Amino acid sequence: MLHIKKLLFTGISFCGGFIFAQQISGISPKQIIGGKGEVLTITGSGFGASRGSSYVSFFREGNTYTDAATGNGFNYLSWTNTEIKLEMPVAFSNKIKVHIGGANYTSTDTLKVKANLGYRQANPLLYDLLTDNNKKGGVTWLVHPVYWNNPEIKQAIADVVQEFRCKTGVNYIIEPLTQWVPLNLGQGKHIIAPDSSLAVVGFNDRLWASCIVGAETFYHNQTQLLRFNTQQNWYYGKGQPPAGAAKFRYVMFHEMGHSLGLGHVNELGESMYPTVTLLPSDNWCKRDTITISEQRAIKHYISLSQNFTFRGCGITPMKPNMDCKDVFGQNLRTASLENEESWLFPNPASTSVQLKLSAIEQAEFSLWDTRGQKVMYSQVNGLETLTLPQNLADGIYLVKLVSNNGIKTMRLLIQR
Ligand SMILES: [Zn+2]
Repeated sequence: MLHIKKLLFTGISFCGGFIFAQQISGISPKQIIGGKGEVLTITGSGFGASRGSSYVSFFREGNTYTDAATGNGFNYLSWTNTEIKLEMPVAFSNKIKVHIGGANYTSTDTLKVKANLGYRQANPLLYDLLTDNNKKGGVTWLVHPVYWNNPEIKQAIADVVQEFRCKTGVNYIIEPLTQWVPLNLGQGKHIIAPDSSLAVVGFNDRLWASCIVGAETFYHNQTQLLRFNTQQNWYYGKGQPPAGAAKFRYVMFHEMGHSLGLGHVNELGESMYPTVTLLPSDNWCKRDTITISEQRAIKHYISLSQNFTFRGCGITPMKPNMDCKDVFGQNLRTASLENEESWLFPNPASTSVQLKLSAIEQAEFSLWDTRGQKVMYSQVNGLETLTLPQNLADGIYLVKLVSNNGIKTMRLLIQR
């Protein structure tokens, strides 16, 4: 008896579900950032007691909805008959769909995706992060002489870099490109340059690399370029560009946004709208700041780039920029030029050395022999005494100190 009753009950529920009741009654929030783990809640009825082969789909760049394979790859946090929670993937603003058993149901509401943080994998979220690439805390962009030697363009680039440094915490600095290299990623240099062969207005090229230690594979951006088409009628000033001119600072917001993990959005008013000149972006490119949504997405990416625990292949996290207006890294250079004697003594040394750093300075100390082999490594804080390894032969060694104030090197003579 009990068995039959249960079957009947199941049957009724099944019919009721499929014939009368599937619908999406709400989505929350209605504005969201894709790709950074924000939770989207979809309420309604008839979603089924568990997800099974059902999935959610979103509108995407290219004007299509994501397919079943993509939808099955999203990170669903919960799925009940009346509520679905999932991590918001990269998407374009539009209505959303829930697919159940071959049918799909569309929301009445439009979900506005204000920014997208691009990822390598949606579940679990995996990114190509930034690292302490220049061993001064972050990334040094080398600016082509055509730009560096033109005060108006140099100012525009410096202002944009400062905007990103101060609003997102990214540790980007700029220096002149003093040695000519071809404009390709194989040179291993981050370069900002004009390019006469570019088919688009601006472009961000990225070269990622990975490092495997044990079970973990770490992905990071190794080299990037920012290229700008020389065929454009560029306007380098602030505010609204003259009719027909392309605003360099705005295009750089877009391309540098890509370099910081952002993908496109179809939201009017955002720097990551796919087209960067003429309409519709002429309607909002007069602003000389990045948007709140862009700040939120990039800050998250910078936080991940500063706090990862992976160590291997010489990779260390990006460090905080200590003075966001120090676009040219001048404070870093001052630190590395300061009197060498003041931070390590005695020299010559026999059994130990003392490091004199500022009280809050954290640093990585390494000692190298004349053959370029690392013979000692230690993480240090403030004033510390380090015992030198007993097996080191007398002679000259190189000390390297990498801290949030820059890189310092000096020769140390060991005499016992
Ligand atoms: Zn773009």
